[in-house]
Amino acid sequence: MSHVSPPPPVRPASASEAAAWLAANSEGNRQAIVPAGAEHSSLGLYRSPQPAVPFDLTALNRVIDYPARDLTITVEAGITWGELSRQLACEHQQLPLDVLQPDATIGGIVAANTSGPRRHAYGTARDYLLGFDAIIADGTRFKAGGRVVKNVAGYDLSKLMVGSRGTIAVLTQCTFKLKPLPPESCWLLTTWDLSSELEPVLQRLLLSDARPVAIELLQGTHLPHVGDRLTLALLLEGSATSIRWEVETLRRELSPFGPDELVEVHENRETPFGDRFLSHLLALGHEWSWELTMAVPPSRLTTVAPLFPKTCRISAHALEGVLRVSWKAAPTPQELAFLGDLGASSTGGGMAAVWEWTRWPEASPPPPAYRQPASSASRWSLELKRKLDPHNLLNPGVLELATGETAAI
Ligand SMILES: Cc1cc2nc3c(=O)[nH]c(=O)nc-3n(C[C@H](O)[C@H](O)[C@H](O)COP(=O)(O)OP(=O)(O)OC[C@H]3O[C@@H](n4cnc5c(N)ncnc54)[C@H](O)[C@@H]3O)c2cc1C
Repeated sequence: MSHVSPPPPVRPASASEAAAWLAANSEGNRQAIVPAGAEHSSLGLYRSPQPAVPFDLTALNRVIDYPARDLTITVEAGITWGELSRQLACEHQQLPLDVLQPDATIGGIVAANTSGPRRHAYGTARDYLLGFDAIIADGTRFKAGGRVVKNVAGYDLSKLMVGSRGTIAVLTQCTFKLKPLPPESCWLLTTWDLSSELEPVLQRLLLSDARPVAIELLQGTHLPHVGDRLTLALLLEGSATSIRWEVETLRRELSPFGPDELVEVHENRETPFGDRFLSHLLALGHEWSWELTMAVPPSRLTTVAPLFPKTCRISAHALEGVLRVSWKAAPTPQELAFLGDLGASSTGGGMAAVWEWTRWPEASPPPPAYRQPASSASRWSLELKRKLDPHNLLNPGVLELATGETAAI
């Protein structure tokens, strides 16, 4: 991790100004650049650790077209999450991604593939990005996809941009499909003594008549209503009547498994975002300095989660098998060794766990990473990057870290 101060930022006022700067840079002294929104994402993992020009897209912040009756919107990539959500709420609509910071930009959210607990029902940005405008490193502008929901011609390049971490192209405009904003929501919180008790519960939830939009397993979170207990948190959204029915259904379905406690937390459109249980849940990742994100087969979640020390905090998208594990202080050498073993066991036939550090203090060196053997997908990503950005100007070093490919390209 370099501590050299970065070159001063460039803040284009329009897409054509951005394209002209990139073209001149590519022809001229070829400075590395970091596409930047609010810069909430981790240095190294999402933003180049090398000295590079922050390419600030926040001036591109207009709503281009909002045909609310079609449930679509086209915006510039620098619009903030707060402003987008505010405009959509006026029409009782939402882009159903879970984002904590209101100043995060839509370009950063797409490029970081930001998601949260509600991905269980709603999916992620790849399910909503219908089309985009972007610029590659030599200044060439291109468009992909379209502005309508029925759009199936050609390659679906939108999927390529989601999670691309600013390494392939600079997004300047995005079109999304939208969902109605539910009037009411309710968290149903149940606490348990042992994670093994939860295995049959999760299986039962797969067959439930209710449709929770989030199914989270929490441990050591110290959240309101939950404390540090092992908790299953289910989020229901809809009308007051449908939520009442779903709560009763879930109470009935879960009663044979004997949860210790069952708490209802009701919220509605008027509940300020900062007061919602969801925002407390999203903020967890920002309070403790060390965090890793791990993917396990969902059926292994309840066996992997208890392997972590009790001092760790765990929040997991239970049916997706995605765990976020946080440490307050630096993990001990023994804990790092345990993680190495857990990662190494995934190289055998039955994949156990893949993980990466998603947060560590900026002043510290990155913790030792477990690297997956380069997959055909990561080789393909690097090959594409070489074609579109032959001089490796866009976020150099980031894709190599993400794919486990350390050789410079
Ligand atoms: C899996 C995951 C889960 C996360 N969960 C949460 C969460 O629950 N809550 C939360 O608040 N945050 C979360 N984050 C952090 C997330 O990075 C920020 O919330 C937010 O999405 C970033 O917005 P930003 O404007 O700060 O982007 P930045 O940090 O500025 O950029 C993010 C990435 O996108 C690139 N980028 C930025 N703008 C563009 C553009 N216009 N074109 C191309 N590339 C661009 C950057 O180079 C960088 O790689 C999560 C991140 C990840 C990866």
